[in-house]
Amino acid sequence: MSTTPRVVVIGAGIVGANLADELTVRGWHDVTVVDQGPLPLTGGSSSHAPGLVFQTNASKTMTEFARYTVEKLKSIDVDGAWCFNQVGGLEVATTPERLTDLYRKRGWATSWGVQAEVVGPEECVRLHPLIDADRVLGGLHVPTDGLAKASRAVVALARRAEARGARFLGSTRVVGVEQAGGRVTGVRTPEGVIPADIVVTCAGFWGRAVGAMVGMEVPLLPLAHQFAWTGQVPDLVGRNDELTEASLPILRHQDQDLYYRERGDTLGIGSYAHRPMPVDLRDLAADDDVRESSMPSMLPFTEEDFAPVWEQSQLLLPSLRSTKVDTGFNGVFSFTPDGGPLIGESPDVRGFWIAEAVWVTHSAGVGRAVAQLLVEGRSEIDLHGCDVHRFEEVQLAPEYVSETSQQNFVEIYDVLHPLQPRTSPRGLRVSPFSARQEALGAVFLEAGGWERPHWYEANAGLVEQLPAEWTPPARDPWAARFSSPIAAAEAWRTRTAVAMYDMTPLKRLEVSGPGALGLLQRLTTGRLDKSVGSVTYTLALDEAGGIRSDLTVARLGEQLFQVGANGNLDHDLLRREAPTDGSVQVRDTTGGTCCIGLWGPRARDLVQRLTSDDFSNEGLKYFRAKRARIGGVPVTAMRLSYVGELGWEIYTSADNGQRLWDVLWAAGQDLGVVAAGRAAFNSLRLEKGYRAWGHDMTTEHDPYEAGLGFAVRKQDQGYVGSEAVAGLGDGTVTRRLSCLTVDDGHSVVLGSEPVFLDGRPAGYVTSAAFGHTVGRPIAYAWLPASAGVGTTVEIEYFGRRIPATVAAEPLVDPEMTRIRG
Ligand SMILES: Cc1cc2nc3c(=O)[nH]c(=O)nc-3n(C[C@H](O)[C@H](O)[C@H](O)COP(=O)(O)OP(=O)(O)OC[C@H]3O[C@@H](n4cnc5c(N)ncnc54)[C@H](O)[C@@H]3O)c2cc1C
Repeated sequence: MSTTPRVVVIGAGIVGANLADELTVRGWHDVTVVDQGPLPLTGGSSSHAPGLVFQTNASKTMTEFARYTVEKLKSIDVDGAWCFNQVGGLEVATTPERLTDLYRKRGWATSWGVQAEVVGPEECVRLHPLIDADRVLGGLHVPTDGLAKASRAVVALARRAEARGARFLGSTRVVGVEQAGGRVTGVRTPEGVIPADIVVTCAGFWGRAVGAMVGMEVPLLPLAHQFAWTGQVPDLVGRNDELTEASLPILRHQDQDLYYRERGDTLGIGSYAHRPMPVDLRDLAADDDVRESSMPSMLPFTEEDFAPVWEQSQLLLPSLRSTKVDTGFNGVFSFTPDGGPLIGESPDVRGFWIAEAVWVTHSAGVGRAVAQLLVEGRSEIDLHGCDVHRFEEVQLAPEYVSETSQQNFVEIYDVLHPLQPRTSPRGLRVSPFSARQEALGAVFLEAGGWERPHWYEANAGLVEQLPAEWTPPARDPWAARFSSPIAAAEAWRTRTAVAMYDMTPLKRLEVSGPGALGLLQRLTTGRLDKSVGSVTYTLALDEAGGIRSDLTVARLGEQLFQVGANGNLDHDLLRREAPTDGSVQVRDTTGGTCCIGLWGPRARDLVQRLTSDDFSNEGLKYFRAKRARIGGVPVTAMRLSYVGELGWEIYTSADNGQRLWDVLWAAGQDLGVVAAGRAAFNSLRLEKGYRAWGHDMTTEHDPYEAGLGFAVRKQDQGYVGSEAVAGLGDGTVTRRLSCLTVDDGHSVVLGSEPVFLDGRPAGYVTSAAFGHTVGRPIAYAWLPASAGVGTTVEIEYFGRRIPATVAAEPLVDPEMTRIRG
């Protein structure tokens, strides 16, 4: 009998092959990889992927996946033939905007540990002599990028996995998933059932269909993307022998949505410059019989879409004028609503996992992460941006997936600002205050389908009234986008009068039942067995002590808790971990409720006018909650504040929301009440040093490094991660989330920029904002613990080094007199 779980992997593409390799190397030998297509060229995307691996990405996780892919594919071969050809990568700029952006991208590379350089036109031509020097303004050169030969790597990985016991079965289509008692028990094929304890679907763009076999909604869209090979390019003749195949760097011409790779004396051209071409899987299936051995993922080339591409390519690479397009195809692969991959276990059927929407570039990294999740229970790399459960329910609708995925195709090479919202679909989720917010000229950005005010144009008049020390300096054009000096006025009113913040979009979960306390105590670091009305800031850790989330847990009844969460991943965690005996119910109450954060020194004056309940310091202490009535509206008030001012989060049901807004608004007029948005909020929270999970800390960090050791119940054991953090403390940290203030007082950075210590890259920015109260920009950054208060560093922003200093935190009200008053 097998001592390790029986794993069936559906899909023998580059992801499935990597996973089989990573599982077997960890000692899980009972692995069967099944594919509907013949082996090794199954007809999936990997069979014909041109394999360009550009590692640099805005996401640290994606960059690390790519780095691992490079490292791993470099180390394997098939009978001496390469799987990775490290020719380097070059992304050229033909517009000033792109050139500027290449510096931002170089910053990401530096932040995530990839060596990269911005080079001038001559160096671009030296690296890639086919380029017309007059067309380019510069380029980003990453020497460790290169070409992955995915089809060959699949063979190398399969051989290695087979040598360790894995089986690969071609021409075996999975037509169903067997389950019993809420767990997978095997996969059904026309030849019979293959028993399994764990099934991992690596079915690429077929993912939606395979997910449907267990009722799992997989938010991806298959799209066709054009790729063509030229005929012989005279200038390339004699450059490469058959074995090397390519020596020029892989090339991106993003201003025209194009990329290039060399193969012998020809060039391959990939294009995102065409209309999005969604593919209906039913059409591919219908063609299956006639297609026989050809590839379902290769659709006929639509020449008319390629014509402008060919013209543009000849402009950048004039040598192409002496050749022609030889062959082309419209190749199919997966897109998702936010461009990230999809990793995770079905919420309903235990043991059914997916790893899809993964590029060749990230395939080894994803394979390793999934193997670690299965074998060790956690991935060493933070996966929150890849977790299939990151989406809100509304984002799983096929219409939403289709529109946003197509938009991602269109924007794939665009220069996108970190705050840039999608233009469509919008208005999916609005809070009950939305009519009032619109009347106040709210400028909405979008997150999780929610419309969220960032500032209110109605407050524009306050900007002139700002005292000199509150008047924000001008921003550079990039930092000024999706920003307004009105945020300064809203911050000013929050610190000096009172402001209303719409906190509705923040995820709220109700955890109830006789087992509720036990579940929350087991999953979090805080002591929650406190009196009804207590509110606790606590952390959910993984087994290794990494921070899975930070939660605010309010005990509203003996067996009733309201959990302020970060997103759907928290809901998924609680639901998954809840006992199956019905002793705990976990409910997402976000949509049916709403919340106003009422904060500022006049907040109590305002509320007291509207209630006979006691909102005094004694009547509702800091970090306490109670039910009350405000202006006749039944509410739950919690005395906490992410902006660091006196006040409450005031919750009510959605139907009562607009009235709650109206009564607070009317009663606050003579107190100077304003509606305030996320821009002011983010600035104020950084001044108070409040961390935002997912930005400032993730599973890669322990509580002490993140400055959250205070939330750990040290003496207790038994909660997830307690053993891992038992030996940790402020003294054990080697790196620390640090507060920086920018020395020049005006240069605002936006996040992910590298930080240099003694001239060398030493960390990266996690969150940043202009601190309106302190009158200077703030950046939180991961830095070596040795960089204590007073240490000077430099933040690199678009190639410019901005001096900054490590500051004692929090910058505002360290004694907590404002908030506790
Ligand atoms: C034209 C083109 C150019 C590209 N260029 C690049 C590039 O330069 N760089 C890069 O990183 N990426 C590139 N990609 C993307 C990349 O090819 C894919 O993201 C990647 O190959 C996906 O790998 P996979 O293993 O997930 O999927 P696939 O290779 O598609 O494998 C999935 C497998 O699942 C099997 N399967 C599906 N359903 C079933 C079932 N019911 N039963 C059994 N088996 C099943 C399929 O037969 C298939 O073999 C490109 C894609 C295309 C189309």
